[in-house]
Amino acid sequence: MIKTPLDDWISRKTGVQSGTLRRDAIEHYQLIQLRNTITLAKEKSNYYLKSLAAVDPNKIVSFDEFSKLPYTFPQDIKENPLNFVCISPNHIERIVSLQSSGTTGVPKRIFFTKEDQELTIDFFDYGMRNLVGPTDRVLILLPWESPGSVGDLLRIALERMNAYPIPYGPVSNTNEAIQAAVTYQANSIVGIPTQVLSMARHKNGDLLQGKIKSVLLSTDHVPNSISRAIEEKWDCKVFNHYGMTEMGLGGGVQCSARLGYHLREVDLYFEIINPETGEVLPEGELGEVVFTTLTRSGMPLIRYRTGDVSRFISGTCPCGSVLRSMEVVKGRVSGKKRLGKFDISVAELDEVLFSIENVLNYQCEIDERNGKDYLYVNIMKADFNNIDEDVVHHALQKILAVRNEVVKDRLKVVVNIDNQQFEGSNGTAKRQIIDNRKVKVHI
Ligand SMILES: [Zn+2]
Repeated sequence: MIKTPLDDWISRKTGVQSGTLRRDAIEHYQLIQLRNTITLAKEKSNYYLKSLAAVDPNKIVSFDEFSKLPYTFPQDIKENPLNFVCISPNHIERIVSLQSSGTTGVPKRIFFTKEDQELTIDFFDYGMRNLVGPTDRVLILLPWESPGSVGDLLRIALERMNAYPIPYGPVSNTNEAIQAAVTYQANSIVGIPTQVLSMARHKNGDLLQGKIKSVLLSTDHVPNSISRAIEEKWDCKVFNHYGMTEMGLGGGVQCSARLGYHLREVDLYFEIINPETGEVLPEGELGEVVFTTLTRSGMPLIRYRTGDVSRFISGTCPCGSVLRSMEVVKGRVSGKKRLGKFDISVAELDEVLFSIENVLNYQCEIDERNGKDYLYVNIMKADFNNIDEDVVHHALQKILAVRNEVVKDRLKVVVNIDNQQFEGSNGTAKRQIIDNRKVKVHI
């Protein structure tokens, strides 16, 4: 098994001789960078000047000390993003506006300098070496047209390692994307899970069988059922990447062992916390992912709450890396809804629904009538395929909350299958359970 190339990358960045990197060296480096980040943020950002007023960076000599610092919430950035910027506007190279799905509020704005973008390119360069090498031809199904966009930075990274990037963009016409892969002889694909799935499940998806050797799926949450379906269809290896714009796009990527993501520890410090109490959880426990930027100059973020749920994987990865691994993200802290005694989550729905042949996407709503809950499941399929409604009902019964409430006649499941593209379904919209009940119970 090949050790993740990120070890050598981090050795180089931390000044440790290749092959001799140890955890204590990484942690020593991270503590220095945490102090530098706090110093910079306190000096230059109006937000941290106030929130960290009582903090002396020089006293942060352990991760325990660091864990006493206050959290930064997405709402804090939304309210006044400029309060976080640590550099003059002339040095801002790119501003990304993030509109959270389902809301019409003010978007979050994230600012990057040229140096910040260079850090991302460098991570992409070494991260992509987990799945591609020189001469590989990589179809990029991410936005790439504006300078500094995720696809553009990935293109530059691939060129640096002498691979051949094929920038294409998000898929709006599945067949065209397949034909592009054929025409340009792509042997690797980077894309959004449901979009790559729709290519694999397309009637022309067979054209790529045996041609694609690796796929990188890049969002916060990649269902196993989608990875499995793509691997079986094309006989390829699917790798997961974890990242969000706030992290500087990249956060971690799977190695050849394809267990957790190895984290981008040279640029980010990760914690897993109890989302209700805010306490840092012991290694291995499931909780909310929190990160702090270690090297960002434009808009450093300290203890940023991602809302994603995961855990650290204990022990050494079979690839032999000393980097920390985080389990593949299973969903969002806010992604669960109560049905009777149990919760139902997007992650559970993903696993049972995408396991059904021909399912391309779905949306879910919960309603209430005459004291009874109704679960509406709208399934999207391609127009040339069929899905048996009974198969969907049977699959949904595998979810404990659904089974329990249906048996007790307190829940009715209504399945609708069509080939209409519902809003955002072919794009980056996150799957969610919309709860229309008057009294909502959140856990
Ligand atoms: Zn590994």
